[in-house]
Amino acid sequence: MRVGVREYFRLGNKNLETMGDCGAFTYVREERPPYTAAEVADFYAECGFDYGLSVDHVILAYKADYDQHEDGLEAVPEDWKARQEMTFELAEQFFCYVKRMKYRFTPIGVAQGWSPQSYALSVKKLQELGYRYIAFGGFVPLKTRDILTCLQASSLVRKPETQFHLLGITRCENVHAFGDYGVVSFDSTSALRKAFKDDKNNYYTLQGTYSAIRVPQVDANPELLRRIVAGQVSQEKARALEQECLATLGKYDAGEATLDNTIDILRSYELVFNGSVDRSDAYRRVLEDRPWSECPCEICRRLGIHVIIFRGAERNRRRGFHNLFVFNQQLQGHIEQRHLCVS
Ligand SMILES: [Zn+2]
Repeated sequence: MRVGVREYFRLGNKNLETMGDCGAFTYVREERPPYTAAEVADFYAECGFDYGLSVDHVILAYKADYDQHEDGLEAVPEDWKARQEMTFELAEQFFCYVKRMKYRFTPIGVAQGWSPQSYALSVKKLQELGYRYIAFGGFVPLKTRDILTCLQASSLVRKPETQFHLLGITRCENVHAFGDYGVVSFDSTSALRKAFKDDKNNYYTLQGTYSAIRVPQVDANPELLRRIVAGQVSQEKARALEQECLATLGKYDAGEATLDNTIDILRSYELVFNGSVDRSDAYRRVLEDRPWSECPCEICRRLGIHVIIFRGAERNRRRGFHNLFVFNQQLQGHIEQRHLCVS
């Protein structure tokens, strides 16, 4: 709010556009979204977003059978219909408000539904309100087959100039199928978050994923601090092991420490901060393969082995940006495949 989205994310003059969203999953359990359409539109405009999503309410269910149900809409649970209705109302208020205030960002209408036909109805109504960019919400837990069926039904009512966006969906092996139905964009935090939220798959490569090597900071690891306070672990010993792990990893990267030696010291520290798992096999694999040394991305070139060390927030996020780099390569690969087939 203070400096706007471009300065906050240090986008400068880079050719990058921004899309604002109101995080419908954070209030999915509430009866109504906690914001008004005007509040959200003001927020997008004041922050300087290029695109802004209308306020929506996620329907946490999918049941294609209702499209064929003999009782029609009567059979559909009231809560689902109410959420779709609320999403329409908010989309209408949002669109009118953005136009009235002459805001410069492009409004995106969010379609919520529980079946192919209910999504198609959403698309139809949003287009009637004036939207020409429509995002599909609630797709995350769906099977790809079901997503495609919903997109197919929606593409039948899509105006030629209307573009689709998928909220929270990457599945880049399906980009062509999505594209055929009018999808032009998608978003996902997955590549970034896996760098520090996933138990095993923290570092992407084109051939597969690797685990990051956990070397927690003694002063910032709650479990370790608890053990120290409880007298189970000596703080000095933990500090010494932490430093030795970092030093040995650096030496390993420089060819001055052996693989076995490095694994041993990592294991000694692991026993201190987490006795319940042994990640030695995963660490052996990543240390042997040295994926960071082959990666051309700026992060890996600059950080070397440090990109694979699971530690503070900044280092972990940098690994996330490496993952985004690899994800982009995967995506471009899938896009090219189609061109090769066509030519
Ligand atoms: Zn990299």
